[in-house]
Amino acid sequence: MSDHTIHILGKEIHPGQSERLELEVARLHTRNRIQVPINIERAEEEGPVLLLIAGIHGDETNGVAIVREIINSGFHKPTRGTIITIPVFNVFGFLNQSRELPDGKDLNRVFPGSENGSLASQFAFHFRTRIAPLVDVGIDFHTGSADRDNITQVRCDFRIEGMNELAMAFGAPFAIHSKGIPKSIRETMTKLGKKMLLFEGGKTKSLDHEVINHGVRGAINVMRYLGMQNGEPEIIKPSVVIRKTKWMRSPSSGLFFPENVNGTLVNRKALLGTIKDPYGDYEKKVLAPASGHIICSNTAAIVNRGDALFHLSAD
Ligand SMILES: [Zn+2]
Repeated sequence: MSDHTIHILGKEIHPGQSERLELEVARLHTRNRIQVPINIERAEEEGPVLLLIAGIHGDETNGVAIVREIINSGFHKPTRGTIITIPVFNVFGFLNQSRELPDGKDLNRVFPGSENGSLASQFAFHFRTRIAPLVDVGIDFHTGSADRDNITQVRCDFRIEGMNELAMAFGAPFAIHSKGIPKSIRETMTKLGKKMLLFEGGKTKSLDHEVINHGVRGAINVMRYLGMQNGEPEIIKPSVVIRKTKWMRSPSSGLFFPENVNGTLVNRKALLGTIKDPYGDYEKKVLAPASGHIICSNTAAIVNRGDALFHLSAD
């Protein structure tokens, strides 16, 4: 056995060992301890440390299902290296089926966090100081927020060395260049020199089989690309690469009837949806401002003027 031991959360984990640990984040006034379950699997053979994390936003259930499926199918046990899985990071949000923590904070906007900050900030701090230093590559699983339905995609900063290759190895339908959002986990990980891929697919509080399958397959592809599982990445279709995107906003308020265009390539002036006032006086067609791929569609029944309706490629 190699003497390359990982020290995590007060435990020593040797090659070939696995552990299910709890990241203790806070203690509540109800005396409950808030613990985040974390699974660590190490192969005998040395290799990279891959993190699969979901549920940073507690209502984004597709990601939770993806990490669960990877564990259930045994792919969280690498043939080389170490895989850390966190299926539900924001346990509060998951219980409440909400994006935020009880302090109203978005966990993905409080990184790098602080020990004595808000509850969300403490979550970020404990992750950054106790888990992040061990990680080489991470995949952070999300869905569209609120009523937005994201087509399955990975996002990363293509300018960072190695990220383009990682995104292509994942093999999602779309790969989109995006700089990290300030105070996000991705920004913090990038600053620490880690490679972090963001996965987006579907919408909140739903389980979409196609999205889940893409997420599972993509994560396994990344493991293969990194030499952590046997075989080569299985790319069904190379990702459509998008380097620039823009949001299209609603020209008026009313009931929103989107066309079934999400994920498709549309021409300029293609009909994307219709906004209808509740009293039957008017209907307003929403037309594509330019040709491009639709990567997100708002599914809200009622929209206000200025609401984001569609996310389009703008290369
Ligand atoms: Zn999210």
